Amino acid sequence: MPAHAAISHLSLEHLHAWDQEHVWHAFTQMAEYEPLLIERGDGIFLFDTAGNRYIDGSASMWCNVHGHRHPRLDAAVTTQLGKVAHTTNLGLSNPTTIELARRLVEVSPPGLEKVFFSGDGSSAVEAALKIAFQYHLQADDNKPENITKRTTFVALGEAYHGDTLGAIGVGGVDRFTAMFGPLTFDAIRVPTPGLPAGPPPPSDGGPRTDPSGQAATASETLSRLEQLFVAQSDSIAAVIMEPLVQAAGGILVHPPGFLRAVRDLTSRYGILLILDEIAVGFGRTGRMFACEHEDVCPDILCLGKGLTAGYLPMAATLTTDTIWRAFLGSHADGRAFYHGHTFGGNQLAAAVALESLRLFEDEELLERLPGVISHLERQLQQLADLPHVGDIRQCGLMAGIDLVTTKETAEPYPWEERMGARACLAARSHGALLRQLGDTVVIMPPLSISVDELDMLIAATAAGITSVTGLSGP
Ligand code: PMP
Repeated sequence: MPAHAAISHLSLEHLHAWDQEHVWHAFTQMAEYEPLLIERGDGIFLFDTAGNRYIDGSASMWCNVHGHRHPRLDAAVTTQLGKVAHTTNLGLSNPTTIELARRLVEVSPPGLEKVFFSGDGSSAVEAALKIAFQYHLQADDNKPENITKRTTFVALGEAYHGDTLGAIGVGGVDRFTAMFGPLTFDAIRVPTPGLPAGPPPPSDGGPRTDPSGQAATASETLSRLEQLFVAQSDSIAAVIMEPLVQAAGGILVHPPGFLRAVRDLTSRYGILLILDEIAVGFGRTGRMFACEHEDVCPDILCLGKGLTAGYLPMAATLTTDTIWRAFLGSHADGRAFYHGHTFGGNQLAAAVALESLRLFEDEELLERLPGVISHLERQLQQLADLPHVGDIRQCGLMAGIDLVTTKETAEPYPWEERMGARACLAARSHGALLRQLGDTVVIMPPLSISVDELDMLIAATAAGITSVTGLSGP
């Protein structure tokens, strides 16, 4: 019997057992892991091996854009497969990846003209940090006194930029990063604007508080930034932040104008601004890129997730011509960016990314989004009335719903109770797959979701929440 035939005859029992025995799932306590095997998808729905249907309420970890099995995206992959699946982009090129780079430059904020491809968001961030550092080294090499000074990055509290060591160096979600402190560099952290003061939650739960314990309004964070720039602008390589919403930090929505003000400050003091749009890019906030809401152009832009509409791993780091020029020279100068990933610029991923950008236009996705976003806003009101729902934050088609024991005081559940995780698990039996961030239930469906499907998702979310928290107050 050929190997593939043997696989298709595997019993579910085997698959469940082997899943637990051999697959180390991300962000999962494997001792408590309960398998759910997804076999196929269709639009915004996923189907498990028993044929049960679920709304993909987290867009397969925030990356699916046009739904699963979109005929045009499927065709883009198979057409490219008919030519070649992958060749290296280390010193070699191909038509599909070139066309994608050109399209990305066209759709991204003005001034970003160079595209460095990698395989996942964390790698796009690593590249951004190294590019910023090396840029200063080489741009300033006619000023020897500057050469080694710009070694520091500034990031927000509760920042999340990925899980590789560089990315967690600028990350501020303590429960993910604190343990690896001895292995990473220390970024300077300024408080996330708008967070309540308080100690960080002990583990994967509790309300969001700024880890520095400082509550800050946007203007306090901005004046902290300015003080830093005045005191040590020549040692800062860049500011890195997610524009508008800190997603993994708990769907923390910044006050309007904050991003614009950070851009103005960084420009005034000659500091590079790296924007991480890995979660918020490609339509998630209602515009193609979140930074467009405040008319901001970063010096470096990190893209991932929705870049390939959630089909294949690919990420990109875009930079300006000014930055790129600092890397030019003869081979002997050693100014090249000696960094790269085997699958950076992969053709299959590039083909599907290109087709996704065409779909944005042909299906008028950005034009359709405001209606769906305001529908979500109205539906979230229903959830706000539930007795154990605290703060709800929304930006575009992303929302975070805090679960609390006491609404009035926003008193958190003891973290050991894993209320967020339990509510998401309970929502499964009502037909939705959701992911939580501590005790924040996250709603982030594919952008192609219709208002009727959104109603189903909200109903399943409400059912999941009430079945674990109960309908009445304490
Ligand atoms: N930056 C942000 C803002 C993210 O949300 C993520 C992933 N959730 C990353 C970086 C890391 O991306 P990846 O998981 O593809 O490495």
